[in-house]
This record gives sequence, structure tokens and C-alpha cells, in this order.
Amino acid sequence: MDLVINKDLAKGYKNNSQIARLLTENWVLNNSYCPNCGSLPLNEFENNRPVADFYCKKCNEEFELKSKKGSLSSTITDGSYSSMIERINSENNPNFFFLTYTKNWIVNDFLIIPKQFFTPDIIIKRPPLKDTARRAGWVGCNINLSKISDSGKVFLVKNSQIIDSKIVNAMFRKTLFLREKSKEAKGWVIDIMNCVDAIKKESFSLDEIYAFEGKLKVKYPNNNFIKDKIRQQLQILRDKGIIEFVGRGKYKKVNYANL
Ligand SMILES: [Zn+2]
Repeated sequence: MDLVINKDLAKGYKNNSQIARLLTENWVLNNSYCPNCGSLPLNEFENNRPVADFYCKKCNEEFELKSKKGSLSSTITDGSYSSMIERINSENNPNFFFLTYTKNWIVNDFLIIPKQFFTPDIIIKRPPLKDTARRAGWVGCNINLSKISDSGKVFLVKNSQIIDSKIVNAMFRKTLFLREKSKEAKGWVIDIMNCVDAIKKESFSLDEIYAFEGKLKVKYPNNNFIKDKIRQQLQILRDKGIIEFVGRGKYKKVNYANL
């Protein structure tokens, strides 16, 4: 993987967003492998296909690319709000690559958000376009990265450091089980993943997770067994190798840094 984006391809182009699109897509085609199966290279869909930009010939995963000059921000601007929600609800949204690059066209961060992490919770509705706009009334959306759990942000490149592809594959595959779950069941697992992330320590106790009971009660007002639900999700996270149980109500996050 070469972190330098080839800007020679932009010769003759004037429009900045067109240039960014062309160069970053080209970089992905020449440098990225499939985070699911490791296959190289990815393939491009023909132009104007509305849903995704790339796919893997081997495992058929689909990918959409968003890119931005500058550093990673907590929100990403995306297209139409209603079509995004529709895609999430019908579960035909692709995985989502996000690439940031420096003003000198060096890749800074390149990460994938696996499609199972897209829930309506992470989509923010933007105000409708003004009456004077060409598409007056149109409503776009932002993706709220800060609401996506750490397990849902799989970095291939972080701060211009290339992450070992074995770690990327393992991280990507670790949460595929969420795709098999119902929306409600998946929602619970993701909520507890977010609670675990919110504890900024490697180890934590059951009591520390129970401290989120009130917050979860707001989200699930009709559920009178929040603590049971919490324990059930912790068990799932343990079975899937996302956390470890170290005994006496203590848990540990599984860390990839030393793999
Ligand atoms: Zn693949």
C-alpha cells in the first residue's frame, strides 16, 4: 500500500470535487484490498450505479467511498436522508470506506465502517435546502462517526500508519455475526458495545456497565430487565472475542495492538 495519491491523473480537470473523487477512487483501486477476504484489487462498478462504488469479485462485498481533505471529523456528509434511511431499513446499504488526505495528497486515515453498523441512530438529518436552492426542500444527511462503536471503525491506515492486513481482516470479520441478528437484537449488542467503549479503560467491571442502566432505560422505556439484557450482550461480546471475561464480574477489552 502506497500512501501517496497519484495527482497526475487530475491533469485537465478543473473542478475540485471532481478531482478529489477521481484521485481518491483511483487510489483505492490501486491500493486497497477487500477487508473481508483480503482479495486484491477491488473492482469498480460502472458509473452511475447509485448504491456503491466498488465490489470484491471473490466475496461480493460492496463498498462506497467518501473522502475528505484534512483530518478525521466526527461527522461525514452524505446524500439524501430518506434514501439513506430506506437503504438501512431494507439492509441493502454497502460497507463504507472513509478516506482523509493531507493537502499534499498523502493518505492520512483510511477506514471501513462495516455495513452492519449502519443504524438510523447514526444518521443525522440536515435542514432542508432553502427555497432559493436549485433543489429546494431537499434533505440531506450526515453520518455521525462518534456514535459508531470502536468495533465498527476498522482502520486500514491510521495517522498515515498502515495497519497489518491480518488485523484488519480479523477486525472486520469479528462483527459479521451482527448481520444475522434481528434489528432489535443487533441494536442491543451495539448499545452495549458503545457502553464498553465509553469506559476508557482496558478492564472494567459489571458494575461499571450497570451504571449505564439509566441511559438504556431512556432508550428502552418498556424494558424492565435492563440488567439481564446487559449481561446477555456481554456474553455475546465475550463469545465473539470482543471482550474477555477475567472472573469475579471483571471484563477486559480484546486489544489488537499486540497481534
Ligand atoms: Zn472480498
